[in-house]
Amino acid sequence: MANTHLYKPNLVIVISGPSGSGKSTVIDALCKADAALRLSVSATTRKPRPSEVDRVDYHFLSKSEFEAHIQQDSFLEWAEYGGNFYGTLKSEIVTAREAKKDAILEIDVKGALQIRTQDLSPARSLLIFIIPPSFAILEKRLRRRKTESETELKKRLAIAKSEVLEIEHYDYWVSNPEDALQQAVHQIQTIIAAERSRIDTKLIETINPLLGIDGAD
Ligand code: ADP
Ligand code: 5GP
Repeated sequence: MANTHLYKPNLVIVISGPSGSGKSTVIDALCKADAALRLSVSATTRKPRPSEVDRVDYHFLSKSEFEAHIQQDSFLEWAEYGGNFYGTLKSEIVTAREAKKDAILEIDVKGALQIRTQDLSPARSLLIFIIPPSFAILEKRLRRRKTESETELKKRLAIAKSEVLEIEHYDYWVSNPEDALQQAVHQIQTIIAAERSRIDTKLIETINPLLGIDGAD
């Protein structure tokens, strides 16, 4: 929930973490609990999983369609992960802004670093990294999810190790303990609430007229 009438949604909230750490599950719970969040639907060349719906879970594209978007400079960021391409369309962020919502993105570490190094103004980024309790539990979760072949699963576990090394580029880390999803969700809600209360120039521009203060020198 946005905490006051003064808050103008301007966050680009990035959630990263190893495959199986719980990103999708956590984001789903966050969006259900907070109408001021809008999920950015990524584009990918990965094949849909049986439960996934085009344009809801991802914009499922062919490689040539994805490359056309790169040529047209349609992506805010994009990266290759496990042999497939994934990217955030700029239009997803525009849609969130038009709906007066904060955008929430589930993206990998390479994409997050591209967001970190861009000037998004008037928006600003908030980078959160989800940590699983252990690699053993990560593997258990991925096996239980049953969405990847054995080769694909091994590839994802190997990528997980390199991803964790990039945590220093994030603003916050959040643990997602086994069978305590709500704990992770609550911690992220607390971080978002704090960021929405951050004092920045936009808030001052809003608050000064309310107080009868002329900003001019
Ligand atoms: P990611 O999006 O990071 O790849 P998912 O959200 O798909 O991960 O979660 C991987 C699997 O682990 C899913 O089957 C999900 O239901 C399960 N899961 C997520 N969080 C928890 C948790 N805190 N405890 C137990 N299982 C979890
Ligand atoms: P999955 O295939 O499990 O849905 O996603 C694999 C990886 O791609 C995850 O780390 C996920 O966060 C990442 N990913 C999903 N969408 C995007 C995106 O738009 N950009 C980038 N860079 N990574 C993404």
